Amino acid sequence: MPDTTPHAPLNGDQLQRFTFVDADVRGCVVTLNQSYRELVGNHPYPAAAAELLGQFAAAATLLATLLKQDASVTIQARGSGLLSTVMAECDHQLNIRGIVTAAEQADGVAAIGADATLAELLGEATLAITIAPANGQRYQGIVALEGGDLAACLSDYFEQSEQLGSVIKLAADGELAAGLLLQQLPAANAAAGARQDPEQWRELSLLGATLSAAEQLSLGHTEQLTRLFHEHPLNLREAQPVAFRCSCSEQRTINALLALGGDELRAIIAEQPVTEVVCQFCNYPYSFSAGQLQALLDQPNLH
Ligand SMILES: [Zn+2]
Repeated sequence: MPDTTPHAPLNGDQLQRFTFVDADVRGCVVTLNQSYRELVGNHPYPAAAAELLGQFAAAATLLATLLKQDASVTIQARGSGLLSTVMAECDHQLNIRGIVTAAEQADGVAAIGADATLAELLGEATLAITIAPANGQRYQGIVALEGGDLAACLSDYFEQSEQLGSVIKLAADGELAAGLLLQQLPAANAAAGARQDPEQWRELSLLGATLSAAEQLSLGHTEQLTRLFHEHPLNLREAQPVAFRCSCSEQRTINALLALGGDELRAIIAEQPVTEVVCQFCNYPYSFSAGQLQALLDQPNLH
């Protein structure tokens, strides 16, 4: 009897790390479902922008697995096309958020055609990868986003900055976003006594690169990895949940208001009895009465 069970939700909002039994190569596979739909659902994005944001979000989760401490990773493109920025952020607990903003001269993101090409969306763009530790100095690397191919650009970035062979594959279709990362282990992490085998890496990276976007968006994690690496035994770790969760808060919003300075705050108070500040990521409305804002003004440390 044929299996007529409906296609199970594909690894919804899960990230799984894996290591190869016989190779000093690690990997990570992720599928975003609900979290991705929440991420793009807060804004009227056209299909092309939603897909691009999905790729950024999947990439941010992959990069977050490389963090060695409690930190967040932000991938942000600044372009010269219809969009001015695309950014996605993922923290150590795999909470994601992100946003797409239109170029000033454009009529807003929503006005962009559904079939806009990557070149039209971002034009000449630079990509900034920022690691912000909970405690400590933030670190930023900047690379050109050539051809609008985020995955290839991030792979090159790792090869250059960490001297580690890396393959990244990203896909998104507005409903699902998916990613695969394959990376050589740093020499210090490689099995004791083992030597990096360039031939082994060459073979695994070539296999990884054959993963198609259609496979990423239709197959479960085990099935994807079995198709790619059936001759290379690997240990697939337990799934880790990924969620859309904005890191905004009332205190952060207050900090942003304080950053406007005293004159600006006084003007706001004079204009309206209640000020609403809507989070650009999650649309949460924070509202402050004139009295609350006046109290901020009375703080001694406001310049
Ligand atoms: Zn928010």
